[in-house]
Amino acid sequence: MKLRPFLFYLWACLCLLVGCKPSGRTDNKDTQRPVITVSIEPLRYITERIAGDGFRIETFVPKGSSPETYEPTPEQMMKLGQSLVYFTVGDLGFERTWTDRLRQMSPEVPFVRTSEGIKLIEGHHHGSSDTPENETDPHVWTSPAHMKTIAQNICASLCKLDTAHARQFRRNLQQTLADLQATEDSIHTLVDSLHPKAFLIYHPTLTYFAQDYGLTQIAIETDGKEPSPAQLVRLIRLCKEKQVRTIFVQQEFDRRNAELIAQETGTHLVDINPLSYEWKEEMLKIARTLHTQ
Ligand SMILES: [Zn+2]
Repeated sequence: MKLRPFLFYLWACLCLLVGCKPSGRTDNKDTQRPVITVSIEPLRYITERIAGDGFRIETFVPKGSSPETYEPTPEQMMKLGQSLVYFTVGDLGFERTWTDRLRQMSPEVPFVRTSEGIKLIEGHHHGSSDTPENETDPHVWTSPAHMKTIAQNICASLCKLDTAHARQFRRNLQQTLADLQATEDSIHTLVDSLHPKAFLIYHPTLTYFAQDYGLTQIAIETDGKEPSPAQLVRLIRLCKEKQVRTIFVQQEFDRRNAELIAQETGTHLVDINPLSYEWKEEMLKIARTLHTQ
């Protein structure tokens, strides 16, 4: 007769224990934070700085995937509907292909093109594109100056969508702009007096970086495709003429041609990741590499 109340007591204790599990509480808190979705990791870096801790920021394109050809998973597409806002760069291959479809699936989520107001450079080519002649260069985030515009666009959207925290977003923006200016100044110090000013890269991701700092970017791929043997010979000649000492390679793109040119010209191969969340470190690494080459 006395067993039943005891069992009930034991059951109640177990429930309490399970309910109070610390990890359960953290999960709960995390799922309660409003979600902001961004297309690539450098946008997560900058959005986090402006939005602060009150949001969970999800990135569409995972580490190691190319934002030119990425295809979102059904789960990602479903989850986008729960986001406060979706921040895109604007013209990345994956964004061009998917934005309309994603918008149809989540019509209530505002889509914000964060590169709005930036003067885009024409004539960027991707092997994946059907109409390469109409493309503009999408890699605006490799310029700290353009990153300031991106930060301002993100702040303006957040202030509209969450007016209660607008003052905090604006304060965070001021701090972020000061940090971006400091990064820009450090890069100037490292590369302004550089000679020679040219570098090679497989895919021309650093167009805006090169433009800001008066550098010459030479791409190994041609019209988004691997170079032909004749083009390779021309690249090797150009490399010697321009006294190129560094070839940047990225994990998302082919490195065999870069290795071949490096062997022929005695240049170093340097791995970079302009798609990393560690945006500031990556930008400074590129500048330091050029400085010490
Ligand atoms: Zn590209």
